[in-house]
Amino acid sequence: MSLSNPWFVIALVGVLGVFHLEFFATLLNLARLGRPVPPDLAEVFPEETREKLGEYIRDSKKVEFTQEVTLLGVLVVFWWSGGFGWLQNWAQSQGHGPVVTGVVVIGLVLLAQTWLSLPFQAWDTFGVEARHGFNKTTIGTFINDHFKGLALMALLGIPVAAALVWFFETQAWAALYAWLFLAGFTLLMTWLSPRVIMPVFLKFRPMEEGELKDAIFALARKLDFPVAEVSVVDGSRRSTKANAFFAGFGKTRRIALYDTLLESHGKEEIVAILAHEIGHNKCRHVPVMMTLNLLEMALMLGLLGWVLKSPGFFAAFGVQGTPVGMGLVLFGMIYKPLGVLTGLLGLAMSRKHEFEADAYAREAVGSHQPLTNGLKKLSHDHLAHPSPHPLTVWLHYSHPPLAERLAALQGNPRAV
Ligand SMILES: [Zn+2]
Repeated sequence: MSLSNPWFVIALVGVLGVFHLEFFATLLNLARLGRPVPPDLAEVFPEETREKLGEYIRDSKKVEFTQEVTLLGVLVVFWWSGGFGWLQNWAQSQGHGPVVTGVVVIGLVLLAQTWLSLPFQAWDTFGVEARHGFNKTTIGTFINDHFKGLALMALLGIPVAAALVWFFETQAWAALYAWLFLAGFTLLMTWLSPRVIMPVFLKFRPMEEGELKDAIFALARKLDFPVAEVSVVDGSRRSTKANAFFAGFGKTRRIALYDTLLESHGKEEIVAILAHEIGHNKCRHVPVMMTLNLLEMALMLGLLGWVLKSPGFFAAFGVQGTPVGMGLVLFGMIYKPLGVLTGLLGLAMSRKHEFEADAYAREAVGSHQPLTNGLKKLSHDHLAHPSPHPLTVWLHYSHPPLAERLAALQGNPRAV
C-alpha cells in the first residue's frame, strides 16, 4: 500500500475522484433550486410547493451526503489500516477451500456495507420522507423488508458469488463463462422478479371490473399489445409516491399499477401513462438496454479477469497472493470511474427512450394533453427538482427533466 504502486493510485483517485464529482454535481444542483421555474411548470410548482420542494431536496441530500462521507471514511480507515489483508487472512484461517473462503469474504463485506447504510435508510424513511408526508412505512414493515432483503440476497447472491469465484479460480476462459452465466442469470431474474421476488415485498390483487379496466384493455387491443392481467399493487403501504410497471413477456404480460397512482390520476392520464409504457415495448427499448448491459458486463469481466492475475492490484489493498473472492470485492473500487462513464452512456440512451415512448403515447391516445397532465401530477407529487443542473441529469437521470419532456410532447423541443 504505497504511492509507488500504480494500482493504489488508480484506486485512490477513482474512489476520491468519483466522490468529489458527485459532491460537486450536488452543489450545482442545489444552487439551481433558487432559479425561477420554467414558465411551463409554474402551475406544477407554485410558490409554496417550491419552498417545500427545496426543503425536501436539501433534506434528502443531507442524508445522502452524510452516508457517503461515513462510508468513504470507514472504507479509507479500513483499507489503510490493513483491514482487507486481515479479513482475507482470517477467512483463510478457517480452513475452507478458495470458493467457500471467497464467498465468506464477499458476504461479510456486503453485510457490513448493508448494515452501515441501514441507519441512513432509517433516517431517510422516518426522518425525511415522513417529515415531508411521503412515508407510510411502519417500523415493523421496515425491519421486515430488511430481513426479507437479506434472505433474498443470501439466496440469490451466494450461488452467484460461488459460481464467479469458481470460474476465476479454475477456468482459463473464466471471463467468457462468467459472462454467459451472468447473462443467463439476468434473463432468469427478469422472469422471476415479478412472479416470485416482488410479491415478497408487495401485494398484488386483480383490478376490479369497471371503466378503467375496460379502457386499459381497449388501449391494449388498439395498440395490438396482448395483456393477460391487470393488477393493483399496494404501494401505499410504504409510500405515497405513485408508479406503474409491466411484467412478463408475450401473451402472459401483466400490467401492475400502484394503488397510489389510481388515487391521484384520472382515467385518461392512467391510460396515457400505460401507452407510454407500451411505447417502450413497441420501440424495442428493453432488448436495446439489455444488449448495452451485456456489453458493459463483457467489458467489466474482461478487465476483472486481467486484474485478478495482478499481484500488484492485491498488494495495493494490503492483500497477499491473488485470492479471487477478495479480488471481486476490491475490483469495484478501481472500476468506479469507468462505471461512471458507462453509466453516462446508459442513462443518455434511457433518456432518449423516454422521449420516444412519450411520442408514441401521444400518437396512441391522439393528444399530448393526458400524458402532459399525468407527468405534471407525478412530478408534483414526487417533489422532483424543477430545473436540475445538466451535470446531475447526465450522472443520474434515467428520465429527462419534466420541462424537457413537456416541451418535446408539445412538439417544440427547442424551447428548453
Ligand atoms: Zn418511460
